[in-house]
Amino acid sequence: MPGFNERIQAALEQRRRDDLYRQRLTLESSQGPTVRVEGREVLNFCSNDYLGLAAHPEVVAGLCEGAERYGVGSGASHLVCGHSAPHHALEEALAELTGRPRALLFSSGYSANTGTLGSLLQKGDSVFQDRLNHASLLDGGLHSGARFQRFRHSDVPHLEHKLAGVTEGEKLVVVDGVFSMDGDVAPLTDLAAACRRNNAWLMVDDAHGFGVMGPGGAGSVAAAGLDVDDVPVLMATLGKALGCAGAFVAGEAPLIESLVQSARNYIYTTALPPAVASAALAAVRLLTTEAWRREHLEQLIRRFRAGAEAVGLPLMASTSAIQPLLVGDAGKALELSARLRVAGLLVGAIRPPTVPAGTSRLRITLTAAHSEQQVDRLLEVLAEEAAQVL
Ligand SMILES: *Cc1c(COP(=O)(O)O)cnc(C)c1O
Repeated sequence: MPGFNERIQAALEQRRRDDLYRQRLTLESSQGPTVRVEGREVLNFCSNDYLGLAAHPEVVAGLCEGAERYGVGSGASHLVCGHSAPHHALEEALAELTGRPRALLFSSGYSANTGTLGSLLQKGDSVFQDRLNHASLLDGGLHSGARFQRFRHSDVPHLEHKLAGVTEGEKLVVVDGVFSMDGDVAPLTDLAAACRRNNAWLMVDDAHGFGVMGPGGAGSVAAAGLDVDDVPVLMATLGKALGCAGAFVAGEAPLIESLVQSARNYIYTTALPPAVASAALAAVRLLTTEAWRREHLEQLIRRFRAGAEAVGLPLMASTSAIQPLLVGDAGKALELSARLRVAGLLVGAIRPPTVPAGTSRLRITLTAAHSEQQVDRLLEVLAEEAAQVL
């Protein structure tokens, strides 16, 4: 037997050879349209801080006030003595914003998805997932004990064909509201109709729609005009547009109560620091008082797409803040990202297994904190460098 060390070394070397090796950046500043990396200011086009709230003074003040009053650690899980007033107030605010009777906080989106799927599904049930769903949804479905089926990306007839083939057990259809690496919006109205016809529940992970889309930032489900009957399980995160950390699931009271009783990722983990909940409450307030952030972001998205089209960049069909540039080859995606970095722009190269083989890309994200000039600079550098690499 070669042993762990040899196996680890061989896997690392293989990753390098395949251009799939990943490296972390160390930031020396807060999130923002520019960030400091290795002593240099660069323009940041890879953050999910879509509204520019991660370092907003009111959100920072929310965190500080929360820490002054509640300290740092929550001390225990929610069910022991870790559930504090800011957690409770945030759950109520999130339920109201999403138009659902109740919401339940989780420490992360990964944990909300795996915990919810594990609690809701049983052996004998079937779960149907879009093949481009986020890894946390796929993992939760695979580990749930239910029969796991993937359907072609946003292909409702394909889903419906699979749904019709199942006659026993409960059926749950799961999609990203806005797909995290492609930026396109799921066909939520058609999915909800297909679920209704086939007696299935629909779960939407709105990590990238919540805060950004829909009335008051309520998300992609509200933007599609769908309610809790159409989408009984709504999940979203607080670490992206809200600029904080954590996640929640919203729905009818019995669903939420069943998660409290049986979601292992809810029960067996320490609650988020109360100060983070207090910061997220401030971010939720800003969603209504600073609607200009969503409008400015919309305008930047239109500007970027028009500019990219004009110079023939290979855009994908996305109208969201996620504007990927399809490259294909992992090595080329890395090279383009490195060239942009030299020019002072930070854009991540997304490679397998995060995306399917042969579809490596630059995942460009725009935020409300960017200016038109910064987007124009991005377009200018992209046009130059893409011509060298693609
Ligand atoms: C980021 C993300 C998650 C995970 O959320 P975390 O809070 O970062 O763990 C889940 N689903 C989607 C679609 C995401 O983009």
